[in-house]
Amino acid sequence: MHSFNKAINYQAPSAEGYYGDFGGAYIPEMLYSNVETLKTQYLQIMKDADFQKEFHALLKDYVGRPTPLFYAERLSKEIGTNIYLKREDLCHTGAHKINNTIGQILLADKLGKKKIIAETGAGQHGVATATVCALKGLECVVYMGEKDIERQAPNVARMKMLGAKVVPATSGSKTLKDATNEAIRAWINEPNETHYIIGSVVGPHPYPDMVARFQSVISDEIRKQLKDKTGTELPTHVVACVGGGSNAAGAFYHFLNEQTVELVAVEAAGRGVYSGMSAATTQLGKPGILHGSKSILMQTADGQVVEPHSISAGLDYPGIGPLHAFLYESKRGTFTSATDEEALQWAFHLSEIEGIIPALETAHAFAILPKMNFKPTDIVVVCLSGRGDKDLATYMQAMDFKK
Ligand SMILES: *Cc1c(COP(=O)(O)O)cnc(C)c1O
Repeated sequence: MHSFNKAINYQAPSAEGYYGDFGGAYIPEMLYSNVETLKTQYLQIMKDADFQKEFHALLKDYVGRPTPLFYAERLSKEIGTNIYLKREDLCHTGAHKINNTIGQILLADKLGKKKIIAETGAGQHGVATATVCALKGLECVVYMGEKDIERQAPNVARMKMLGAKVVPATSGSKTLKDATNEAIRAWINEPNETHYIIGSVVGPHPYPDMVARFQSVISDEIRKQLKDKTGTELPTHVVACVGGGSNAAGAFYHFLNEQTVELVAVEAAGRGVYSGMSAATTQLGKPGILHGSKSILMQTADGQVVEPHSISAGLDYPGIGPLHAFLYESKRGTFTSATDEEALQWAFHLSEIEGIIPALETAHAFAILPKMNFKPTDIVVVCLSGRGDKDLATYMQAMDFKK
């Protein structure tokens, strides 16, 4: 068994938003009052009985929760253990991201905000944000790297159909990191009427904790569903892919302080961890500050952010959230990675063996299963973070290539 410091409560950062050395709120002066309001009010609003009632009613009737926990029989046999899939791919809009955007739109409403901004990489968070803005009748502007706008045309069309304005980020590598910079800049220009819906467990405190709490519905359901199916609430392992880390944080949350549960985080190794084209943040990164918090990030010796690479836009980010940096540093989490090639292979393999076409991000989590040496009695839960519809163009190219 795997041991760690039981005195640490991994679920709650300090009052200033620190998990160990990581977290905090490193923000420009202009955002101070906005972030301070969020910081002093988010817990109170989230704990309010009416808020909880509305949040859970929408999760049930709009998102389609609880999502199933599915025993993957053929995959279990192949790997030689017991594998359960938490089906976040069945959420409305196709991934876990909507759990968080539903929570944040209700919060923005309570704070009296009239306008929503967001950043997006693959467009999944942008679609989830545009969706809830349509649901609540709020103005929505989504910042997206110019390169991602080209790569992810169907999601751009979806956001526009949902009434959002999509603004291209034209600086740097024209991808997620640059879109985030643009969104922060826009927020600074209109801090009072605007709420910024961040899509992962990143950004200044209280975002990492707030997003983790909204996503924690995933592990709350896993505990109950596993109890029904196996008689125990505790799996031996929970496996999830990590971009910023929100599906992993949600899947880990109610197991963070459970000594016996091994938490396995899978990063994107791109063309290979040391290929110079990778997004394996914990393997390559060092402590630093990005997008408002201190965490581990990929950087040069003089602190310039290194451009990451992953075949999946959702994992193509040079950092991870501060909770994950702490899980890594304190050895509470097991961090590993899968390459572009392995993820592609597993996207096809899962489709063939279980009849489920996963998102490319999610396929990374599956790719590590054969390397884990599970016991036949282990109970392994894999967070199936999203479905593969958005990645069909990549899958079609891969099939052409195979022929
Ligand atoms: C966005 C996305 C991810 C990566 O984001 P996290 O915050 O790390 O969860 C993973 N899977 C899918 C399907 C996504 O859309």
